[in-house]
Amino acid sequence: MLLYSTKNPTLRVTLKEAVMKGLPDDNGLFMPSWIPELPAGFIKDLRSYSFQEISLTIADALFQHAIPYKDLEAIILHAVNFPAPVVRLDEYRYVLELFHGPSLAFKDFGARFMAQLMGYFNQEEKKPLTILVATSGDTGGAVAAGFFRTPGIEVVILYPSKKVSLLQEKQLTTWGHNIAALEIDGTFDDCQSMVKQAFLDAELTHHLRLSSANSINIARLIPQSFYYFEAFKQLPAEGEPIVFSIPSGNFGNLSAGLMAKKMGLPVQQFLAATNTNDIVPKYLHTGIFSPRPSIPTLSNAMDVGNPSNFPRMLDLFPETRECSTWNMITQAISGKGFSDQETENAMREIYSQYHYIMDPHGAVGYLAMQRYQQKQPNHRGIILETAHPAKFLSDVERILGFSIPVPERLASLENRTKQSTPLKAEFRELKSYLMDRIQ
Ligand SMILES: *Cc1c(COP(=O)(O)O)cnc(C)c1O
Repeated sequence: MLLYSTKNPTLRVTLKEAVMKGLPDDNGLFMPSWIPELPAGFIKDLRSYSFQEISLTIADALFQHAIPYKDLEAIILHAVNFPAPVVRLDEYRYVLELFHGPSLAFKDFGARFMAQLMGYFNQEEKKPLTILVATSGDTGGAVAAGFFRTPGIEVVILYPSKKVSLLQEKQLTTWGHNIAALEIDGTFDDCQSMVKQAFLDAELTHHLRLSSANSINIARLIPQSFYYFEAFKQLPAEGEPIVFSIPSGNFGNLSAGLMAKKMGLPVQQFLAATNTNDIVPKYLHTGIFSPRPSIPTLSNAMDVGNPSNFPRMLDLFPETRECSTWNMITQAISGKGFSDQETENAMREIYSQYHYIMDPHGAVGYLAMQRYQQKQPNHRGIILETAHPAKFLSDVERILGFSIPVPERLASLENRTKQSTPLKAEFRELKSYLMDRIQ
């Protein structure tokens, strides 16, 4: 498998280089130079394969021996170790639950797979790899869970003191072993700039092998295509066309869906569902992509003003003589943004109609599906539920008006002990902390 940069189509790097670097030097995004179409027989027989078998087949087709089959199998068995069940609301509406992993959000799929790949590629190295992550809350939890006890890899998480929720803090600080948490007396931006400075510091990079667990690492995108196949498999074989609705922020999840379609999954349409940060829906309506500062909303993991995967989406629809990128992309995807008020109403409606408790992000996906099905009532819709509602406990309980069950793996966090190192928001503090760890 070879990858190019969205800013340089002629570049070719190996999977190892793309995964370990995260970003090309030109600040584009890595993309596979070739996306294979899977055999029609595989798609037809999808129902006879397990989630892990499906994932292995897709990864192997994509990687093309970049990783020997036996090794890849071990990676998949470790990375894809929780289910992605489809829950039926009615004959035409289904929910794909992506929150059965350790941090209760779909980002666990990407984080676990990336951790496995980095651990694998790092085996040949003598020095441990130190991964620096700045987090405003959610990503750090998924990364910590993903890398926990990965041999040869140390993770150092920087988070802004008193600016993450109690549960989020527990998800960052209660691991121990190879996961260290630094509680920074500053903002998320301070954390991010400290991490950036570390990568530029010659002395540090001489002594330490540093990497980032960047959210746009291609290793996070690839496993997100697996569960589109897994969802498809769980619907009755015979029936109307299938449409996916994807609650979106940086559009990694939707890009992975587009890759699944390119690999042969018969998807009629993708719905780009956003909150009021509707940069991509606006692009789909007008052809103009105009990023702007993000607006805080109820579905805060989608508060993104400049969706980072947008160049990947464009590259999946290369212009032809007959058809522009925009023409093709608007055939494959339709999009709409929804307000917090609409989201709250949808959560109440989903509960009263189906007795299903949906989190605010999934509810945005529901709204887009509802709108689509006004015109296409017989198409079968799969809504991606990207997080467990208990992750947004106080909002969900306020909106629905009753208390909801909290899964054991979230509830038990409360009793675990926080282990963090407080640091001033200054790069030299981070530097001496990292240098001390070497000795
Ligand atoms: C990250 C996240 C999203 C947005 O996903 P993208 O791939 O960035 O579009 C949606 N919902 C939840 C709960 C998230 O954590």
